[in-house]
Amino acid sequence: MSPLLTRTIRCSLACAALLLAASALYAQTPAPVRTIPGFDKSAIDTTADPCADFYQYACGNYSKLHPIPADLPSFDQFSNLYEFNLQALHGILEKASTAHAAAGSDEQKIGDYYASCMDTAAIDKAGLAPIQPELDRIAAIKSRDELTPEIAHLQRISVDAFFSLSADQDFKDATREIAVMDQGGLGLPEKDYYLRTGAKDDELRGQYVQHIASLLKLLGTPPDAAGKNAADVMAFETELAKVSLGNVERRDPDKIYHMQQVTKFASGTPNLHVAEFLKDAGAPPVTELNVATPDFFAGLNQLMASTNLDTLKNYMRVFLVDSFSSRLPKPFDEENFDFYGRKLQGIPEQQARWKRCVNATDSALGEVLGKVYVAQYFGGDSKTRTAEEVKEIEAAMGRDLNQLGWMSPATKVKAQEKLAAIVDKIGYPNKWRDYSALTIASGDAMGNSVRAREFESDYQLHKIGRPVDKGEWDMTPPTVNADYLPTMNTINFPAGILQPAFYDRTASDASNYGHIGAVVGHELTHGFDDEGRKFDAQGNLKDWWTTDDAKGFEQRTDCLVNEYNSFVAVDDLHVNGKLTLGENTADNGGLRLAWMALLANAASKHESLESKTANGYTPKQELFLGWGQNWCASERPEFLRLTAQTDVHSPDRVRANGVVVNMPEFRQAFGCKVGQPMAPAPEKMCRVW
Ligand SMILES: [Zn+2]
Repeated sequence: MSPLLTRTIRCSLACAALLLAASALYAQTPAPVRTIPGFDKSAIDTTADPCADFYQYACGNYSKLHPIPADLPSFDQFSNLYEFNLQALHGILEKASTAHAAAGSDEQKIGDYYASCMDTAAIDKAGLAPIQPELDRIAAIKSRDELTPEIAHLQRISVDAFFSLSADQDFKDATREIAVMDQGGLGLPEKDYYLRTGAKDDELRGQYVQHIASLLKLLGTPPDAAGKNAADVMAFETELAKVSLGNVERRDPDKIYHMQQVTKFASGTPNLHVAEFLKDAGAPPVTELNVATPDFFAGLNQLMASTNLDTLKNYMRVFLVDSFSSRLPKPFDEENFDFYGRKLQGIPEQQARWKRCVNATDSALGEVLGKVYVAQYFGGDSKTRTAEEVKEIEAAMGRDLNQLGWMSPATKVKAQEKLAAIVDKIGYPNKWRDYSALTIASGDAMGNSVRAREFESDYQLHKIGRPVDKGEWDMTPPTVNADYLPTMNTINFPAGILQPAFYDRTASDASNYGHIGAVVGHELTHGFDDEGRKFDAQGNLKDWWTTDDAKGFEQRTDCLVNEYNSFVAVDDLHVNGKLTLGENTADNGGLRLAWMALLANAASKHESLESKTANGYTPKQELFLGWGQNWCASERPEFLRLTAQTDVHSPDRVRANGVVVNMPEFRQAFGCKVGQPMAPAPEKMCRVW
């Protein structure tokens, strides 16, 4: 459960709304796994002109060398490294699963969780029996008043039907954790999937209704009734979509922050029985909460009364079995993949079971598994070396802020204050989570999953009303990602990403600045993007800008919105400049900071950045190649379409090129002439930071 506002370097599972039950964006490649070096000469297409299409130059051979495995939507630097980490975790889990470790020990828990997930013979043999008690609970509902306890129960086992309940920092008092109720309950990735017109959307909606019908049939509904019931469920979800807030609006923190007295919220939405729900879901007693999306709850309140009770029950059954499909007999697992993998993302084959079970163990017992992973793969001085490099990028940001021509001294003081308060988290938590209250049993795939979900839900909700724990991590150590949390004012780099290609000890400094340096700069810049800038040094949603400076900022981000709107994502689909604004700001700022850090580093060592090194490029060119090669990828068109419509990050090609076109330093490093595609006239360039 991530906080409402998490800004990453790369789309995470939640942000892409990749709904595969075993949560597998990455994995399975039949090719032997190797790490890709920071400077990857083999990917460079020397027949391309870097001034015409830099991505083609830096990554033109990548897709030939790394075709997309049949069970993945795309293959890129992130998935390659994740694949490498997956093999590492696989070794740890195979060993743990046969170790006969003492009951209750960490090793027993990860070993039995993994082994029970792997035992598909036992899962198939058990049929629906392990989930029957859950199905019976839904079947027993006789009136609308009985819905609330069941919705609360489903939420506690992470079946996110109807809406969501979570703990999050109070945007306006970052020291405390509060309860948040937010919209949810859609089986398709986002509201527009229900409402957009067009042949591709019509087709996908038809396939989704089919998917619902197939699950109902697997649960014993006769075919005729299943078709009709599925259409009714779809109609209900479409109504939910209509009252949901869109993904562009959701980027504005003010639009998802509405503190209310519980009693007031409850009296406005009587059909939701809010007080009873909060208690049943396991939340500590609260008098107020953030109702992130009030219009949604007003709409849902009406729908709870007007929708046929059987339709609501079918909706819950479908969400339940989709959510647990990997713990159910093969037809359920296949059906879930067929829609969410094959149809939605264009993936031909489901990934190997062991990879899905490694992922599942990582999400259930992330800091147990992560502890072993870190000990084996992130030792020595990795943490201290990375910390020094992060400080260099932060120092560059300090200089950048001072040099800005458009910002007044008053706002600069506040910005410096915020920069100085940022906490760097590197590799893994200083204090590991305690899983002693979680029981994992041998041979109980469903029970283990249910208990792990309850354990996580209780852990999260228990935070409500307590002070914020600033040391906590929201990503597990092997995760290949990085993030910035505006309410924490922290930047986070798990051990998983601090490896080649992103951080390569054998590559030059220049190459590493272009890779991990720009990633660090990206996360830092998130603190000052269109969303992050609204939070102060303590993580509170509080305006610290003068009116003129805010206006100046918006003029500059408008330039980025228009520029990225003009880039094509796939076929006829353009990038959504507003949806991706925060990420594009972070990409542009991030590479500039890496560039500044490279210059400072070279100056301190009296090194030239102009002469070619052994690999045939100058250090300045190596920095840009490092950046470009962060985004080398092979992608399926279905996946590109999905991410262009849901992901706050721009497509990879756009990420590489969109930044260099805004840097005169790139033109100079590669000798491009003004007017070439990667070297627009200076007045057409955008720059925020
Ligand atoms: Zn980001």
